[in-house]
Amino acid sequence: MPFIRCMKIETKVLHAGIEPDPTTGAIMTPIFQTSTYVQAAPGDHKGYEYARTQNPTRDVLQKNLASLENMNFGLCFSTGMGAVDACVKLLQPGDEVVSTNDLYGGTYRLFTKIFEPYGIRFHFVDMTRPEQVEAAVNSKTKMIWAETPTNPLLRIIDIERMSQIAKKAGALLVVDNTFASPYLQNPADLGADIVMHSATKYINGHSDVVLGALCVNDESLRDRLAFIQNSCGATPGPQDCFLVLRGIKTLHIRMQRHCENGKTIAHWLKNHPKVGEVHWPGFEDHPGYAIAAKQMRGFGGMISFTLKNDSMDAANAFLKNTHLFSLAESLGGVESLVGHPASMTHASIPKAQREASGLKDSLIRLSVGIEHIDDLIADLENALSAV
Ligand SMILES: *Cc1c(COP(=O)(O)O)cnc(C)c1O
Repeated sequence: MPFIRCMKIETKVLHAGIEPDPTTGAIMTPIFQTSTYVQAAPGDHKGYEYARTQNPTRDVLQKNLASLENMNFGLCFSTGMGAVDACVKLLQPGDEVVSTNDLYGGTYRLFTKIFEPYGIRFHFVDMTRPEQVEAAVNSKTKMIWAETPTNPLLRIIDIERMSQIAKKAGALLVVDNTFASPYLQNPADLGADIVMHSATKYINGHSDVVLGALCVNDESLRDRLAFIQNSCGATPGPQDCFLVLRGIKTLHIRMQRHCENGKTIAHWLKNHPKVGEVHWPGFEDHPGYAIAAKQMRGFGGMISFTLKNDSMDAANAFLKNTHLFSLAESLGGVESLVGHPASMTHASIPKAQREASGLKDSLIRLSVGIEHIDDLIADLENALSAV
């Protein structure tokens, strides 16, 4: 479909890279559950040799994801962390990375506990202040790692500004776009070289798969990442690719409802007498509001907040008393989830480091689902009354 580039995302989710199966006409991409492919003679094959290297179900998902990010190439991994791992493997010992200090705990753990011992150096800075990024960049900087909105404080990083700094430094800009999803934000349009996703979250949206992805424009970068993908082997199975393709078909309508419900709940929490700070980038007094309004199509359904009674006990009372908001790790599914970053997703970041980046022990994070708003608010009201 040559006109895919000018399609709207609502159409791309259903059609980009997706063709009826040539052998049967099946409209849905088949699950090619095979480990190998028969060759007519040595080297005479149909483009598929071994399933770690290529799989037709995965190919379709990779094309679809690349198109959603307005990019040329997609690569899928068994998990989001597999995608992050492949990115860092583009680097050599002695190289340096400047990263946001307000990032996914698993990414922080991979950087500091796995790659630092291999001789890659990471600088964690407050990326909402570009001057801190500029100060941390030096001749060894090969990668700038941004995540926006950030997890769990929903801070906003100016992607275009980071891209200017990266270009000047000759470094690659990687943006973890998991929280926004391609429906709300396309970092490559603002200059990102690599867009990373945990498709486990909004992209799949149904809490039944873990899967990761990278999208790039540059062909040599794609080839290098495909080499890493095949050599290291963190590739997804075809069933998981099928499920993600199925989830993507409703990405746009799910995201619209996540945004609507998120907006109503953010304002409701802000006016609640027991609630302290509410972090949501759609508030006009949010420090990142202007940038969010410029680089995002909506403000999403991720919200975090503290309680006026700023204690672990108060947070625990709240967390024990939600019913629709299930206490669980992860986010971005159709059902609402609640989490406690300090003891769950961010437990691997040392307490001193957590507090330095503004993450209080009483902070509660909501992934607002697509249920009826009245039921969600009743659930939150009930839990707050137990505090
Ligand atoms: C979940 C998540 C990851 C890791 O993805 P997995 O699929 O769990 O491996 C990375 N970044 C962000 C922002 C995430 O939320």
